[in-house]
Parts: sequence; structure tokens; C-alpha cells
Amino acid sequence: MVNNITVEVKTVSRVYQARKVVNALSLKLEQGKTLGLLGANGAGKTTTMKMMAGHLMPTAGAIHICGIDITQNPTEAKALIGYLPEHRPLYKELTVDEYLEIAARFHKLSSHRIKQSIAYVKECCGLTDVGKRVIEQLSNGYQQRVGIAQAIIHAPMVVILDEPTVGLDPIQIRQVRSLMREIAQDASVIFSTHLLPEVEMICDDVHILDQGHTVYQADIRTLQHHMQTRSLVAAFKRPTNLQALYQLPNVLGMHHQNEHTVVIQYQHASPAEALVTMAVQQDWGLYLLNEQQSTLEDVFIQLAQPS
Ligand code: ATP
Repeated sequence: MVNNITVEVKTVSRVYQARKVVNALSLKLEQGKTLGLLGANGAGKTTTMKMMAGHLMPTAGAIHICGIDITQNPTEAKALIGYLPEHRPLYKELTVDEYLEIAARFHKLSSHRIKQSIAYVKECCGLTDVGKRVIEQLSNGYQQRVGIAQAIIHAPMVVILDEPTVGLDPIQIRQVRSLMREIAQDASVIFSTHLLPEVEMICDDVHILDQGHTVYQADIRTLQHHMQTRSLVAAFKRPTNLQALYQLPNVLGMHHQNEHTVVIQYQHASPAEALVTMAVQQDWGLYLLNEQQSTLEDVFIQLAQPS
């Protein structure tokens, strides 16, 4: 492993039926860091994770896990990865203990290590009391914990979780998030989500995809800095001139929220006073002016749905 880099994705693309659903994606992740993969439905998150987990061949590019090329040495690289796919790979007729033993054998753990590992992941995932229960009879949240337990049974360096909190209730979500933080003490974690607060709570790095393209890639501090952009929401009775509004001080960008309303992003000092003066001079009929702080949702919508 070079410079603690556990995952390196180098200009990876995937084509389905002549359509590039992942397009020249590159990313790097360090040991002990958590990466959140974001994007609207169909953005390419699952496809990217399948390729990183070695379940799908990239059409182009390379993926290295702890320096090992996953296409050239799949067995070696995959031994370092734990993966929870979108649809949990559970044998629901088995008990938790039976299933985890199969998962451990699948990863070729020694008989001695199997017992220890099962006990460890059960403790880690809050499953100690349900080892003898049939998986089918467990709640959704517990089944998700079993899915995560199988992904970490072999103490992988990289844990890939596809929408790990989807369908869970708020208490279960909190438990799974704290479990992810615990896993990230030792391993690198990559997960996809639609829940934006989750990203702020858990991630060190963020990667936003739109139709297979990377539209944003940064650490969480940079993202939070991005979110410090503020906006003025201004509504006018009569048509305005956007070019003129761009002349206001500190303006970064703007867009129409509807026919009458313009959202103006700015940094540093607010251009509100200059805007009021301009609106009066131009007789635009300014009838509403609000300050608002950009949320992660604003940033996401701005980046992931540029249209
Ligand atoms: P979601 O948030 O809805 O799970 P996603 O970001 O995970 O979406 P993907 O599941 O990676 O997106 O899909 C990306 C694109 O690739 C979609 O347009 C999808 O229809 C297409 N796609 C995925 N799998 C296949 C397949 N096996 N054959 C053809 N197209 C596919």
C-alpha cells in the first residue's frame, strides 16, 4: 500500500448497451477514511461500487485495492474488500450464526479464526443476542446488521456499503451510522446514500455523480466551506435584467426559482442594499427579499441537477 491509499480508481468507465453509465471516474481513499458517494437515481453509484468490489468489470480504467489491481489479481484484491450490495445477500432460512459461518468459510478463514470472528462481528453489529434466530424472522434493521456483519467478517481493509441505511427507521439508522463510524476506525469505508445529513455526519470525503460523471469531489471541510455560500431570494413584480444583477457586489451566481423570483448566491458581504437601490432605480417592483444559508441539499441540487 502506497501512502496509506486503500482504494485508487483510475479513469474508470462502464458501458451498458453502448451507453457510458460511469464515465472516466477517478478517486483515491486513505486508510481509516469514509467516502460518501452521492447522486440522483441512475447516477452510477451502484455500478461504481460493483466495480470497486470486483463484482463487475470496468470497460476501461483500473481499480487498485491497497495497490493490487482488481482486474489482474481479483482473488488477492477481493480478499481485502467487504461488500454489502444493494440487495442483501442473505440466506434467510439460516440462523445468524449459520450464515456468518458460511460467510467466514467463503473468505477462507481458519476454523479457529471463524469462531473468534463471528463473536467479534456479532458484538460489533449488536447481534450477540440473536445468533440462534432465523434471519427471516429478524426485523429489517437487524437483517441489515447481518448484511454488514458478513461484509466485515474477514476484517477487510475496504468496506463498501450500497445504501446501508435505506429502509431503516430513525433508531436503526442511528445504530447503523455508529456502526459505520466504528468500522472506519480500522478500515476505509465507501457508502452510497440519498440522505444528505448522513454525509455531513459520517464522511471525510464526498464524491457526487451525475449521469456517470463526477460533478463534485472534495473533503467534507471543503464541502462545508462551499455550503457557507449565502443566497438572497428576491421577488419582482416586473421582469428583471439578470446581467444587471450580476453587476452587484460579491455575486457568485444566480438562477430563477420561478417567473418572478431570483436566487442570488454571494460570498462575503450581502449585496442586499445595492440590490434594493438597483430595483428602485429600474422600477422592477421588488416585493420580497430574504437571506438564506445554502444547505447541503442546495449544493447537491445545484451540482447533481445542473439543468
Ligand atoms: P440508484 O440511486 O437508483 O440506485 P445508481 O446511482 O446506483 O441509482 P446505477 O444503478 O449504477 O445508478 O445505474 C446507472 C445507470 O446504469 C442507470 O441508467 C441504469 O439503468 C443503468 N444500468 C445499471 N445496470 C444495468 C444493466 N445491467 N444493464 C443495462 N443498464 C444498466
